[in-house]
Amino acid sequence: MPELPEVEITARRLDAALRGVVVESALAPGINALKTFDPPLHAIEGAAVTGVRRVGKHIVVDLAGDLALLVHLMSAGRLQLFDKRASLRDRTSRLLVRLADGNELRLREFGTRQRAWVKVLRAQDVAADDALATLGPEAWPDPPPLRELLAAQGARPLHGVLRDQHVIAGIGRSWVDEILHAARLSPFKRGDDLSDEEAEALRSAMVSELGRVLDVYEEQVAMPLPEKFPKPTRVHAHQGEPCPRCEAVLEAVFYEDYVMTYCPACQTEGRVLKDRRLSRLLK
Ligand SMILES: [Zn+2]
Repeated sequence: MPELPEVEITARRLDAALRGVVVESALAPGINALKTFDPPLHAIEGAAVTGVRRVGKHIVVDLAGDLALLVHLMSAGRLQLFDKRASLRDRTSRLLVRLADGNELRLREFGTRQRAWVKVLRAQDVAADDALATLGPEAWPDPPPLRELLAAQGARPLHGVLRDQHVIAGIGRSWVDEILHAARLSPFKRGDDLSDEEAEALRSAMVSELGRVLDVYEEQVAMPLPEKFPKPTRVHAHQGEPCPRCEAVLEAVFYEDYVMTYCPACQTEGRVLKDRRLSRLLK
């Protein structure tokens, strides 16, 4: 599930590799992946890549001739660079961009659902595209003060509101657990109930945790970019293990397709939050 650090390192690596390289041809084998038809995909053929950057959890490939590709990996997509062409039987292919240097930029998606998408946009339309125009401010490297931002969202628990891309962009299910643990805040604390100190602790945990993960990725993530990123988590999905700060046993709440992990001693004043999976079974 690519979040800000995974998408940021992808954009950095691709920027270094693709800048100045000309697109030879482009093909979208994933029938649902291409979300735009004007300009057509082949409009990018012959254009040089001028840069690759991240916006929230999106990747923008800027191209000469005032065009851009806007890509969202969703939960199971990967943007990778290979030194040979994809086999046409590779069912994970959603977008193939063949490059004049012999490499191929490939949007692949794993699993059964086709959700990753690409838009071909005119450069001047990128920022105003719905997907980007509705994003909140970036969670890293310099998020805004959070007290007012979260208070405006009403009584939403931190674990949910921090993952709402319209509120703040870049955080998902893995890194939210690390951020809340670093800030010593309960995942169920209401976003409109933060003191100035708590809001500042949350903001600084956001910067330091996302930065910590990115530092690991700078060391460990190399081309052609992995299908599975390293997971330098200390709390998320570590339930049953000792808290890295106080050694109390980490607890978890299990949802249908993910887990929320926290330290009762550091975050919830010793309270063990209701396990929803268990309470559903007991009904
Ligand atoms: Zn602890």
